[in-house]
Amino acid sequence: MPEATHFIGNQWVAPAKSPAISPIAVLDPSDGQPFSRIARGDAEDIDRAVKAARAAFEGDWGRLAAAERGRLLYALANTLARHHEELAQIEARDTGKPLKQARADAAAIVRYFEFYAGAADKLHGETIPYQQGFTVFTVREPHGVTGHIIPWNYPLQIFGRSVAAALATGNACVVKPAEDACLSLLRVAELSLEAGLPPGALNIVTGYGAEAGAALARHPGIDHISFTGSPATGTLISQMAAENHTPVTLELGGKSPQIIFADADMQAVLPVVVNAIVQNAGQTCSAGSRLLVQRDAYESVLAHLAEAFAALRVGPSQDDLDLGPLISARQQQRVWDFLSEAQHDGVAVMSQGEVVGSAPESGFYQAPTLLRDVPESHRLAREEVFGPVLAAMPFTDEAHAVRLANGTPYGLAAGVWTCDGARQMRLARSIRAGQVFINNYGAGGGVELPFGGMKHSGHGREKGFEALYGFTTLKTVAIRHG
Ligand code: ADP
Repeated sequence: MPEATHFIGNQWVAPAKSPAISPIAVLDPSDGQPFSRIARGDAEDIDRAVKAARAAFEGDWGRLAAAERGRLLYALANTLARHHEELAQIEARDTGKPLKQARADAAAIVRYFEFYAGAADKLHGETIPYQQGFTVFTVREPHGVTGHIIPWNYPLQIFGRSVAAALATGNACVVKPAEDACLSLLRVAELSLEAGLPPGALNIVTGYGAEAGAALARHPGIDHISFTGSPATGTLISQMAAENHTPVTLELGGKSPQIIFADADMQAVLPVVVNAIVQNAGQTCSAGSRLLVQRDAYESVLAHLAEAFAALRVGPSQDDLDLGPLISARQQQRVWDFLSEAQHDGVAVMSQGEVVGSAPESGFYQAPTLLRDVPESHRLAREEVFGPVLAAMPFTDEAHAVRLANGTPYGLAAGVWTCDGARQMRLARSIRAGQVFINNYGAGGGVELPFGGMKHSGHGREKGFEALYGFTTLKTVAIRHG
């Protein structure tokens, strides 16, 4: 693929304003140095992509039988699987994540395309019993042209969960990946050619959020927007989409609690609790970033966690350690700001991991940090850091745990550790979050599990069969036949 081009209608296209507008440099977070360039798209590029998608939706792609769409998605899944290691290497360099995480992400995108390939011809409407003389049925139809604004933390995975479901239901997609990490998705687009996806079904325009992203969100030719990213950007996107009454699915992050009761199986708890915050250097929407521990077990759990944190190693993606760098200097500064605020307010750092000596000074590194006794009203107990920072606090009883768990504006995920079956059920029902995990956290992230938020974590669901409802609209047909 030529450098600094968009993927529109199965062609690599230079930006409309090229060469007047220079490409965007792509930095390797492991050393902070530029190693590639992407096109800086604008409203004109987005418009071209929307037109290509519309033509596909109204043409060959839109007319394909559901089973045929499934076959094409399956072909793409197989192509992606054959290029698994290459995609993982691209993702690791572009995002800085350790290779093992990038390999897991490259495997996950294959699973998304497999899952939605199989689902393509299994979504159907219903017949509705109605008055004598009528037959009434519902039909699930694609929205048409769907817009997908993708963040930089898991490009392959988030593209997979949203685009595979949208294509499976017959939509044509326009994707705006994040300016900080989009190289793997451009390679996926190239591989979609090899898999035989018809022109216009998948289009990718790269560029800045405020330019290409905003142009996509407010384009009148977009019939649905799915967005994963920060709450502030989510609000802007909702406002822009509202100008055209375009439906939106928003996934906006969280401050998800991991709740440990004194009767929990502590051997099982500790590694999971650590992984839930250090995975992807804490840059995960559903990171378990608050640790609530029952008072009786608080000191002992924290002592074990402090040891585990101290043993964590941070380094370049190729070293494949516990954590890689953060995505950018901006993200690093954001985490530093949170930590200096903690220090200023007397919140104690209990333990930190280590950035290894081989990590270049110019990379965007941050040691994982365990904070104890974080007051429930503190910003660190309420706001998303999006870095490897775990805020611990004690609770007295079940009611207190539930109050703390629900005490932030977010509601994306929660983990509950207890051996008491009745309590497991009570917490599963009383926690306001889109996913509640009992005696685990994340359940391995299976593509089958619907995912999305309550409260400020967003609305709509992606993943699983549920996503197919979000990427379709329902038509009721009532036939009067006497
Ligand atoms: P971050 O601040 O961590 O980069 P964002 O939520 O801003 O997170 O970014 C997620 C995605 O949203 C990226 O693809 C980004 O380019 C895009 N984006 C950012 N600002 C806007 C905007 N004003 N309109 C549309 N998309 C945007």
